[in-house]
Formats: sequence, C-alpha cells, structure tokens
Amino acid sequence: MPVRRLLLVGFLVGALAACRGAGMPTASPESSVAPAGTPAPSSARRVVVVASLPIFATMVEAVGGDLVEVSAVLPPGTDPHTYQPTPRDVAKLAEADLVVYNGGELDPWMERQLEAVGSRARVVVLSEGLEPPPGVVEEEEHVGEAPTAEHEHGVNPHFWLDPDFGIVYVQRIADGLAQVDPAHAVTYRANAERYTSEIRTFDAWAKEQIATIPPERRKLVTFHDAFPHFAAHYGLELVGVVVLSPGREPSPQEIAQLVERIRREGVPAIFVEPQFNPKLAQTIAREAGVRVLELYSDAAPPGMDYVGLMRQNVTNVVEGLRG
Ligand SMILES: [Zn+2]
Repeated sequence: MPVRRLLLVGFLVGALAACRGAGMPTASPESSVAPAGTPAPSSARRVVVVASLPIFATMVEAVGGDLVEVSAVLPPGTDPHTYQPTPRDVAKLAEADLVVYNGGELDPWMERQLEAVGSRARVVVLSEGLEPPPGVVEEEEHVGEAPTAEHEHGVNPHFWLDPDFGIVYVQRIADGLAQVDPAHAVTYRANAERYTSEIRTFDAWAKEQIATIPPERRKLVTFHDAFPHFAAHYGLELVGVVVLSPGREPSPQEIAQLVERIRREGVPAIFVEPQFNPKLAQTIAREAGVRVLELYSDAAPPGMDYVGLMRQNVTNVVEGLRG
C-alpha cells in the first residue's frame, strides 16, 4: 500500500477520534472486535450497520427493520469491482456496530478499509466458505471457452444471485445482528424467517417462469461475469459475457468471437447492467441480430430490494429468451 494513503487514513482516524460526539461510546483501540456477550447498544440508539453494496443493505433492512440504521459504502449504480474507496467511507466504517460485505473478488476494498480504520465493529463476510453446489463446475467445463473458466482466483463471488445462497446471506445477517444486539435476537431471527419464506415463494414462482422458456433457448449472455450461480440454479446455459474481467474492454477479436458464438448457439437476447455503459452490448446485439434487455447483479434501481431484484431478473430473462 502506498505510504501516502496510509498517512491519509491515519489522519482521518485521528480526526474522527478527536471529533467523535459525546453520545458515542468510547472504546480502547485494542478492542477491535466486540466480544460475544457485549452489552447491547442502548435501546435509545439503533444498531448502526454498514454494508458494502446497497443490495446487501436491503437485506439488512429486511432483517433489522426499525432496530437498525443501515447504509452502504458503494454509491448506487456503481461497479464494485473497479470502485475506489473515499475518505468518507473510512468515516462511515469507524461509526459502525456491524459491517456486512460479500468477500472474494466483489468488494476487496472493504477488508482493506476495515484494517486501515481499526474498526471495532463485528464483521459478517456473507460469502465466506460458500461453494457452488455440485454440477456448477461441470457446467463450466461444458461451456469450455466461456468466461466463467477465466476466474483465476477461485469461485465467482456473486453467490446471492442464487436464492439458496441469498437465504444464507439473510441468516448470516440475522446472526450478526443478534450477536451485536442480543436483546432483540428473537426479532431478528423472526424477520429473517419471514424474509426467507418470501425468497422461497419467489423461487418457486421463478422456477415455473423459467420452465416456460423452450429448453433450447435457455442460453444466457450477460455483460459481466456475475451470473454463473443464477444460471446453475435455474438451469440456464451461460454462453458468454461481454467484459471478461473487470475494467477491461474486450478486443475487436473477442467481440467478433462473441457475436459468432451468439449466432451459432442461437442465443435469443443479451443482457446489460445499469452500472455499465450499454453501448458495447448494443453494438454486439445489433451485429448478432438479437435483443438487449437488462439484468441486475451488483447494482439495482433505487428502492429495489433483494427479492425485487431477483423477481425483475427472472421477468427479464423470460421476456428475453422465451420468444
Ligand atoms: Zn460483479
């Protein structure tokens, strides 16, 4: 890490410590993680939760309700893979009781920032230890030249787009809240159960919807490599992605290969995402003669929660592929 950045962070932490309001509890710098059984924050004060991405913040809202005050580090409509944290993010993390992030290649800046700030918060890493269910690896081998195989550092981090993993995220958030605020553990667990059954109801509906797409048309081309877990869960074949690795534009040759693959495989549509400029995908779609629709992964429209995001994705996939 560059020395200049360390100095900046050091300055910010010092400034924060100096101007922390009288209402904030003070803690010695040594107590970086609150031990289990720590007294709950005063009932007058809501649990302050900071999530890396807005979509995880919506899960925290569903579980925490009025008992929490949640915000996200990543601004709406931003690509987390190329995000550069700001001094304001450091200030946010310094105030948090609970910090929630995905882990892996999605939001590596969170771990770095937490270390830099010496946060006292309890930390929940949502995707920690998760592995794709059996069959996904087989799918990747089958795709062969498709980009999922290009994930060099292990598993693809976008687990929440498979609702089974979305449920794991929700349960982990409930566990984290219950540890930070044990006085309301029963409420957090009840809210998590309610949201879990909402996800299960959505999933049953989604499977019925996907079943209306003719099997030979269940082929997905997305903008960035966010949908292998979604595709595996719903029996879609991932044929390709436009951007092979974050922040790198495809070469003209790679674009030509993707257009050829879309034509050869008979892929009915390709999908853009709001955090990326759609021009490149529109050009590819025009050359391949297919439609362009939208999918949500790391960024969603304001006000859309996790289940809303999933429902919209399934609706758009069915509209794009069914024909
Ligand atoms: Zn992503």
